[in-house]
Amino acid sequence: MSTTGKWEKRWHPIFEQWVVYAAHRNTRPWSVPATGFSESESRKSYEPDCYLCPCNGRIQGDQNEDYQGVYIFDNDHPVVGMDAPDVLKVHDEAGLYHTAAAKGVARVICYTERHDLNMSTIPKSSVEEVFLALQKQTIELSLKPEIQSVFIFENRGELVGVSNPHPHCQLYATDFVFENVQEGLFASAKHRARTGRSLFADIVAEETKAQIRVIAENEHAIAFVPFFARWAYEVMVFPKGEHQSMATLSEAEIRGLGALYQEVVQRYDGLFDQEFPYVMSLMQAPVDGEDYDHYRLHLWLQPPLRQPSLQKYPAGPERGGGNFMADTIPEEKAAELRAVKL
Ligand SMILES: [Zn+2]
Repeated sequence: MSTTGKWEKRWHPIFEQWVVYAAHRNTRPWSVPATGFSESESRKSYEPDCYLCPCNGRIQGDQNEDYQGVYIFDNDHPVVGMDAPDVLKVHDEAGLYHTAAAKGVARVICYTERHDLNMSTIPKSSVEEVFLALQKQTIELSLKPEIQSVFIFENRGELVGVSNPHPHCQLYATDFVFENVQEGLFASAKHRARTGRSLFADIVAEETKAQIRVIAENEHAIAFVPFFARWAYEVMVFPKGEHQSMATLSEAEIRGLGALYQEVVQRYDGLFDQEFPYVMSLMQAPVDGEDYDHYRLHLWLQPPLRQPSLQKYPAGPERGGGNFMADTIPEEKAAELRAVKL
């Protein structure tokens, strides 16, 4: 069976989740070598070879506008797309092996026209502009009947496989809900049924009371290394108001949440004096029209480093067993991040 150009979802009957196959995208561009760190000091404000810089050409032939500030376009190498081929097939007698079209919207959100900046160095006004754009995208995409979930993430650094250092994040709006959101929905629904309370509000209340793992706070948001962190410098940033998604945040709350995200990244970068790699996921409830008032919007940062140049590799217990064996204690790592002078 030829796999060239295969583009579909396959159901994982053991984990009961979709796996997205996008074999048509294996020609996607790489702008940096796949090892080492990218340092912003050595980058120019404009890079003629960068497919995210203003006016430059992209792989499919489109050209970026001469933009300033936030710039959004549909991913040229989408994992999910509205034009994904229709495949709805059962491949086995038991009906366990089935496929579906990888439908959705995949977009790239450039933070700024400046190639040499990043989330920790862009002006505060740019951070606000980025978060306002993420809110607008969430609202716009939630109006599409086939979209169930808007998942936004920023991969930063070559250690997490970033193909281009130009500051940007990505968005996958899909007809399924990502597994970690689903897990949070199950747990928070169970907590609600058992206690009548909000799981996420209880976590925020406990971290606020304990203070020992809080690394930054402002009027509208709080950032902490959670009690149950799996990665050494894992951080969660919660808006203080109860919101299921970006859609309902006020402008002041957007400013507060964005400012705290930037502060966390600045603390990361200050810790080892390097552009700290991480994966940030914007965790929000599904946008399928249902009410998920037991779920709560938050940013979730998972950096792979536990020391400079020492990476935590998810191996046997993590990858195979599914449980993290952590080599560090959250309270100590929170103290390190809190002590960083900004
Ligand atoms: Zn660039």
